[in-house]
Formats: sequence, structure tokens, C-alpha cells
Amino acid sequence: MVRTRVIPLAEQLLDTLGEQGYRSTSPRKAVTQAIAAKQGHFTAEQLRQQLPGVGRATIYRSLKLLVDSGALCRVLLEDGNLHYQLSHQGHHHHLLCVECGSSQDLLGCDIEDLLRQVSAAHRFQLSGHWLEVYGRCYDCLPKAATG
Ligand SMILES: [Zn+2]
Ligand SMILES: [Zn+2]
Ligand SMILES: [Zn+2]
Repeated sequence: MVRTRVIPLAEQLLDTLGEQGYRSTSPRKAVTQAIAAKQGHFTAEQLRQQLPGVGRATIYRSLKLLVDSGALCRVLLEDGNLHYQLSHQGHHHHLLCVECGSSQDLLGCDIEDLLRQVSAAHRFQLSGHWLEVYGRCYDCLPKAATG
């Protein structure tokens, strides 16, 4: 009998590491469980403080592999701090609020054509791009200005 079940996120992340040849061990399980429980974005340093028993190399290697496989995306805050966040889709950008730090995914990418033109004009071979959009989210707008 085939039983379908929802695979918990931590297990999916662990599978992703396994697919990249990174065998499952208890520190890696701790890392994927901590990441799966995150709401919003977090830093590698926060993860390290949360998991004092896990080595720095394991945390950074896991983060890198999960970014490379598309399970996590990197978020560069306006202050220069690099954060990570669970990613549920392919190529996308973020709308980052400079007041509350919230991040919204910006689906679709309308700048590919522009970048192709610009690259061609510079005889530059385009291999990818990374764009973050900074501003204030609707909740952080001064209400007087909107009404
Ligand atoms: Zn993202
Ligand atoms: Zn905000
Ligand atoms: Zn894009």
C-alpha cells in the first residue's frame, strides 16, 4: 500500500544535502532542523549561536550547498549584512523594508532583457545577476502620506 505523506521541511533540506554528496550526520540534522524552523531571514552567525555544538565549517558548508541547490536564497540587507532565507521558487528578487527588515519575494524578473542589451553593448558575457530592492513596506509607510 502506498501511503502519501508530507515530507517535513527539515527532512527535505537534509535530502538536498544528501543529493550533493553531503551525508547526513547529527550536526547536519541539527542545522537543517534549525533552518526549517526559521521565520524570515537569518544570518549564519545567528545559526551558530543557536547551535553551539555544531562546527562553523558545517554551518557554512550546509548554507552554501542549500543556496547552490536553490533551497535557500541569500538576502543582502541595506546595512551590508548577508542573511539567508528559505526559498520556494526559482529565480526571484526581494523587496526589503529598511524600517522593519521584512522581505517580500518579487516574482518574475523583468530586467533580463535590459541586462542582455547592456552586456552585449559592453561585449560582456552575462552569466547571472543579483538584485535587491530597498524601500519601505506598506505597513511602514507614514499613514498621513498615503491617506
Ligand atoms: Zn528569496
Ligand atoms: Zn516595513
Ligand atoms: Zn532577475
